[in-house]
Amino acid sequence: MKKGIFITATDTGAGKTLVSAVLGLILQRKGLKVGYLKPVQCAGNDATFVKNLLKLDDDITVINPYYLKEPLSPHLALRRARKKFDFRRVKESFCKLSEKYDLVIVEGAGGLMAPIREGYFVADLIKDLGLEVVIVARKGLGTINHTTLTLKQAEEYGLKISGLIFNSTHCSSTGIAQKTNPKEIQRINKTKVLGILPYFRVRKYDEIVKKVEDSLDLKAMLSDSECENTKALESLDKKHLWHPFTQMKDWAKEEPLIIEKGEGNYLIDTEGKRYLDGVSSLWVNVHGHCKKEINDAIKKQLNKLEHSTLLGLSNVPAIKLSKKLVEVAPKGLNKVFYSDSGSTAVEVALKIAYQYWQNIGENKKTQIVHLANSYHGDTLGSVSVGGIDLFHKVYRGLIFKTIKVDFPDCYRAPKGKKYPAYAFECVRNIERLFSKDSKKIAAFIVEPIVQGAAGMIVWPKGILKEIERICRKNNVLLIADEVATGFGRTGKMFTCEHENVRPDIMCLAKGLTGGYLPLAATLTTDEIYNGFLFDYKEQKTFFHGHTYTGNPLACTAALANIEVFEKEKTLNHMQPKIKYLEKRLKEFLPLKHVGDVRNKGFMVGIELVKDKKTKEPFPWEAKVGVKVCREARLYGVILRPLGNVIVLMPPLNISIKEINCLISAVLRVVRELY
Ligand SMILES: *Cc1c(COP(=O)(O)O)cnc(C)c1O
Repeated sequence: MKKGIFITATDTGAGKTLVSAVLGLILQRKGLKVGYLKPVQCAGNDATFVKNLLKLDDDITVINPYYLKEPLSPHLALRRARKKFDFRRVKESFCKLSEKYDLVIVEGAGGLMAPIREGYFVADLIKDLGLEVVIVARKGLGTINHTTLTLKQAEEYGLKISGLIFNSTHCSSTGIAQKTNPKEIQRINKTKVLGILPYFRVRKYDEIVKKVEDSLDLKAMLSDSECENTKALESLDKKHLWHPFTQMKDWAKEEPLIIEKGEGNYLIDTEGKRYLDGVSSLWVNVHGHCKKEINDAIKKQLNKLEHSTLLGLSNVPAIKLSKKLVEVAPKGLNKVFYSDSGSTAVEVALKIAYQYWQNIGENKKTQIVHLANSYHGDTLGSVSVGGIDLFHKVYRGLIFKTIKVDFPDCYRAPKGKKYPAYAFECVRNIERLFSKDSKKIAAFIVEPIVQGAAGMIVWPKGILKEIERICRKNNVLLIADEVATGFGRTGKMFTCEHENVRPDIMCLAKGLTGGYLPLAATLTTDEIYNGFLFDYKEQKTFFHGHTYTGNPLACTAALANIEVFEKEKTLNHMQPKIKYLEKRLKEFLPLKHVGDVRNKGFMVGIELVKDKKTKEPFPWEAKVGVKVCREARLYGVILRPLGNVIVLMPPLNISIKEINCLISAVLRVVRELY
């Protein structure tokens, strides 16, 4: 059974209180312990009345946390009484009552869009309480309109509706409108009618209860179908769904966590359990889930245009976003080419770099250089420039030849070599290679400063700048793959900014839409772009494009995402949180199995080792990283490891309190390890 239901109405005077009271009495007669909560009341004595009628012994300030004298909308009544609404007070009451009772009936104030404070309506309160809604409508003229508006608005908010109860507010409730209302509204809105209350001249509650007791659909109002739902979904998942990067043989044995909702920095599963999203839903989420500004922007665009091609046509959001991206990107990147994932952004970059030299007559410049332990995606082109054996070695027969150069894992520099000096030594080797072979080299692709998938390897200061210098000097294009590091993740909008580096090509994806929709962009300089401007007959066009290139919904999400950065000064607010996170990360170092802790901004890697002295890793089969992340779920945190490296990459919006929650959970799990 549910813990609570929320009673709202199509407007004031429809009979919310009557329905709440009658429902309470009926359920009490059926042997249930029923509580009542009226979060806000403006004038009148509804709360006291229901309290007395249901013989509740709770303090009136628990039943009714906000009482205001004036008969006004809550926000005005509160303002005039110089009071501030704090949701936590309501939540506290609800928790108290739901512990004591089988069910709490929560009665709203006015209708769904009655404002409680600036920008916060009754519908927001319902959403925050996470309750299903019963809507009370009064029969009569105008009811179809009122009720349909209410239902549409509920849908807009994503509220779950149990159904409608019709109330007869006049003795003349037998007119043609009154008679036809329930059936027509049910038909038009496909919403269940849970009951119809007749007109009562005198409110003798015992009699009312007797009269309607058997006709109300209590089951539809109270039964909680979520649990069965989870089981059914689980079996369907195992029957049809093939998960990425997952050994499905193991998956079949486990109980999957099925996410149904997102709220701020939390994910909520089908059972209603909340988890802090410790890796931003695989490094994509930026400002939290269901961010109002981004939701609203997408909805607005959805009502205009969902998609139209960029092949031979243009569209409004794609144009606006390209301008915005050029504004926020490192100087010199003036052209934007869209695609739909990090991998395709890299494919585009590689093809542009290669074709650029062909187009301008440097036919020998064909080789792509990349770092040995890099990761640039899973399509074959991006796998070709990847170096993580585990992900790439099976496909070796399918990929093109590249020049792979060594670069140290900061924690595991070879014997006798010291870090960071060894990193600079590696760069000098690259420089030697470049000066020797620059005529053959088209481009050098790197993940600037943080090599994510390799295990959150963070470069020492100055390496990226050196790489830029040797690329310029040798006429090699520098491709910065900022798919993971872009959009604030390391504390600056783009990681290249830390060393004032201007790449020739930059790849963006993951955080680009704030974690909403698949969209990627490859940015280039005018110089490269101009290398594609020829007469049509020369066939030097960039022959590339995906069906969904520049999708208007995705571009709209990306625009809204960047606007939130500006409006909320996200990057400024991050700085003290980065400092705090770094302070707390120090607590990991003394732990028995923690070999190394590294971070740049909100990209964190905690490397677990079997033996701290020798740096001996845990064997792959031990699945230590996977186990730690599994355990962390018990403490309400979702993580995803990279082998033996525990990754923390929270949404940029995370609060200090949530950082503490994240760190404490991981500390506990790592401490309990063996
Ligand atoms: C994730 C990632 C990619 C691939 O992005 P997808 O959207 O998964 O294709 C490419 N480069 C880097 C640096 C990444 O972290």
